[in-house]
Order: sequence, then structure tokens, then C-alpha cells
Amino acid sequence: MRTKFIAGNWKMNLTKTSSIELARGIARAIPNNVEVGIAPPFVYIDAVASAISGSKLLLGAQDAYCESGGAFTGEICVPMLKDLGVRFCLSGHSERRHILHETPDLVSKKARAIYSAGLIVIHCVGETLLERDSNETLNVVRSQLSELQPNIITDPNRLVIAYEPVWAIGTGRNATDQQAQEVHAFVRQTLAQMWNPDFAARVRIQYGGSLKPENAKGLLSQPDVDGGLIGGASLKADSFLAIVNAAAAIG
Ligand code: PEP
Repeated sequence: MRTKFIAGNWKMNLTKTSSIELARGIARAIPNNVEVGIAPPFVYIDAVASAISGSKLLLGAQDAYCESGGAFTGEICVPMLKDLGVRFCLSGHSERRHILHETPDLVSKKARAIYSAGLIVIHCVGETLLERDSNETLNVVRSQLSELQPNIITDPNRLVIAYEPVWAIGTGRNATDQQAQEVHAFVRQTLAQMWNPDFAARVRIQYGGSLKPENAKGLLSQPDVDGGLIGGASLKADSFLAIVNAAAAIG
């Protein structure tokens, strides 16, 4: 039985005051049967950590550099995030792949660094509209999953895959329940080939891409959808908690 995991990716939004307020609003309303996390901008992580201390809300980061320290101007390493109480970190988010031009090699090294430091890695995969229209979705997803190293990642509880079709992120246009389930089942089948079926059965696969209160029930009820990675709808406590509560109701 996989516990559903709902994570909010705040991206480059909010202020210090509004981050603290939002984090507190979420922390006080988390149901028992769902795991919930938030990934604030780097500069607010410390303040948010203090605001939610003692709660069940998991603190996350949106990115981390692949080296553990040194002369890398402007970068943040995983040990620094751990020091602040961060428990999970994204790798391969489409905005980092497509806007910041991160290569598969860099994404792979980041996923390895996050996992090796003891954090949960949420590895993001997903196709562009052009790739979907050319029937390349499964090839793209397979190739992005191959950035993960089975000889390094051995604990299925610390690996989460977020399937996020690029055409659905921030566009208001979500994948249908069937489109999401089809790719999620493929992700699990690929993980079974890369690791083994038992490992694959324990990995949570989140859906991301315009997930909101209105479509949460349908998407989160799919058999291979184990939670969500939420952008826009995670910036307001009401909409984020409505998604969390939809996940709790499904169990
Ligand atoms: C995301 O960026 O991870 C995301 C899913 O964004 P949105 O919910 O805004 O589509």
C-alpha cells in the first residue's frame, strides 16, 4: 500500500511573510493518511523550517547542485539543504530542463547527489507537446528514467517519480485521467525492468500539470497515481488543502 504524497512546488513565488503564513496554514491542517510536502524558494527555506517545526509537513527544495561544496558560485548543495531540515528535493523539473537547459547528465548527477545525501528524490519526467504529437511520450519518459542509477538508489521509499507532461504545466490544461494512468503504468513497468517488480510496486508516482481541486479526485483515483506535484494550486492554502483532502478521501 503506497501512502499518497502531495507536494507543492512554490517555484519563484511569494515573499518571506507570505511563505511563512502559507506554510503555517498547511501545516495545521494535514490529514493523517497522506504525506504532504512543500518546496519553497531557497531563500525562504530557513524561515519556513522554523514556522513548521514540530509539524508533519515535509520541507523540500526545488533544486540542488550535484557537488557537495566548493567553488560553484551561486549554487546550493544538498548538505546545506539538509542542514536546514530539508527532506526532499526535485531533480529534472521541466523548467530546469527546458528554461535553464539542464542536460540529462547534470540531472542524473543531481538525482544521485540528492539520494546519496539521504534525502527523498522527486525525479520529474514528461514530454513536450511536440513529443506527444509525434508519439514519442513513452520514449522520452523511458530516457528520463534512465537518468536514475539502480546501483545507487536502493530504497524505494526515497524515490518518487513525478510524471509531468510539459504541455500541462502551468497551462490550465491537464492530462486526462486515462492519459495519466497510461504513462504512470508505463513508468512503473520501466522501474520494474530497471530495478525489480517489488521495488517498482513501492515507488510513489506523482502526477503534475495543472492539478487542481476540480480534477484532483479523478486523477488521484487512478491505480498508479500515488499523489501529485502541484505548482499554481499550491500557492493558496485553500486550493492546496482541497487537493490534499481529495487524496486523503481516496486513501
Ligand atoms: C509543476 O511545475 O511542477 C506543476 C505541476 O505546475 P502546475 O501545477 O502549475 O501546472
